[in-house]
Amino acid sequence: MNPTASDTNEHHTSPGWDYSPAPERTPVELDESYGLFIDGAFRAPKSRKRFDSINPATEQTLASVAEGGAKDVDDAVQAAKAAQGPWARLKPSERAKYLYRIARRIQERARELAVLESMDGGKPIKESRDVDLPLAAQHFFYHAGWADKLAYAFPGRTPRPLGVCGQIIPWNFPLLMAAWKLAPALACGNTCVLKPAETTSLTALKLAEILREIDLPPGVVNIVTGAGETGAALAGHPDVKKIAFTGSTEVGKVLARSAAGTGKRLTLELGGKSPNIIFADAAIDQAVEGIVSSIWFNQGHVCCAGSRLFVEESIVDEVVDKLRHRMQSLRVGDPLDKNTDVGAINSAEQLRTIERYVDAGEHEGAIMHEVSADPLPTKGFWHRPCFFTGVQPSHLIAREEIFGPVLSVMTFRTPEEALTRANNTPYGLAAGIWTNTGAKIFEIARKLDAGVVWCNTYNKFDAASPFGGFKESGFGREGGRHGLKSYVKF
Ligand code: NAP
Ligand code: MG
Repeated sequence: MNPTASDTNEHHTSPGWDYSPAPERTPVELDESYGLFIDGAFRAPKSRKRFDSINPATEQTLASVAEGGAKDVDDAVQAAKAAQGPWARLKPSERAKYLYRIARRIQERARELAVLESMDGGKPIKESRDVDLPLAAQHFFYHAGWADKLAYAFPGRTPRPLGVCGQIIPWNFPLLMAAWKLAPALACGNTCVLKPAETTSLTALKLAEILREIDLPPGVVNIVTGAGETGAALAGHPDVKKIAFTGSTEVGKVLARSAAGTGKRLTLELGGKSPNIIFADAAIDQAVEGIVSSIWFNQGHVCCAGSRLFVEESIVDEVVDKLRHRMQSLRVGDPLDKNTDVGAINSAEQLRTIERYVDAGEHEGAIMHEVSADPLPTKGFWHRPCFFTGVQPSHLIAREEIFGPVLSVMTFRTPEEALTRANNTPYGLAAGIWTNTGAKIFEIARKLDAGVVWCNTYNKFDAASPFGGFKESGFGREGGRHGLKSYVKF
């Protein structure tokens, strides 16, 4: 509904007022079907199997994608193996030039890639445009800078590449995760076989086009699309020297078992149930914005989502009121609309998982708060942002990763209690602290079992800043100087 002259003055209070649609119109050219990107060219899968990639907001098919089988994975690994020696012997400043070219080309094609990311994965265009794409380019720029300075990253030592890296990524930040994995590996002189997630392969295939445009030597990066079995074939290949995996803790454990005793290097970026702690002396309005971005950003499809909110008891009513009010103004809908805050859930399967947890929350006696706004689209997979109060630490929604826009609100009385409750989880990926007292920040941050602690902010990323978990959230770091270590031997 568009505002009329008579109601525009009321739009802050009238729930009937709505924004005009603001669709992003940048065209994306898609082929009807894609092959596997092996040895510098797209080729049909030897497996002869294919699957469709759909738009989760419309359920329409976007393209047919190849499902790589064991033979295809072997071809890709052999291409990477053949390319590795020449790539490693290239003058490091020449290797850097390729990475700079990839970064620049991503920037040049950023809007198109952002639109495709939103179409294939369901995330709002304002996020893919303002977060995923700039960061993907930044990772290539940042690591291009390291390529000829590795000796300075490891003073007194001689870093050497590992060989062929098998890299397996999830569906929540498809192109960004590809950049996280490829950029440091290439900078260090390794070659790669990348396996994107089944529901979000398309931006990786566009990246393959970019690699051709910039004349990256064939075999240096190979992209084998497919499902879990394709990933398993890659991880189990004897010529893969390093496995870099981002995904669920469940699959991470399978990979850790299969890599044990093989001499393969392994890094795992897994799930989380991250605490976000709000003290009474925090700037409450800012903290509420931080909560919004910690859990409703990207439909909660964020491994480091602040899915457990701990609020100091004296301010819980104020925080909950403000949160409910803010939730009311979040716009759920068309991911390609520039006003959309919360897009589509990535797949029917993920939607069912989220719904199961929400049912469990209500069943166990927690109280659900949800906005009852305009009806959601009839096609596609949607879940309104929501939060629970009356949550006990024993409740499923307080213990397990939901990977959806569902927040559990709990309280604490003392910093010690906040810390104990925050650390009471098998995970250890990220955490947030909100307070105006600097000493409290340092004290609590030091004692939290979390790879990343954000203070008075949340979900901020930078290529120079290492990211990774403790406990069942995995091991190894990506980004920054620490991330390089995962791709070299001495
Ligand atoms: P997932 O099922 O573990 O899938 C991740 C990737 O592994 C996908 O490419 C998947 O292929 C592949 N895969 C599945 N089974 C495999 C196997 N047996 N061997 C090798 N590869 C296999 O995870 P997801 O559900 O897609 O992603 C969500 C999870 O990722 C969440 O738990 C989240 O916390 C975690 N995550 C962590 C981080 C981090 O940095 N710590 C970042 C993002 C996401 P298919 O897509 O075809 O299944
Ligand atoms: Mg898709």
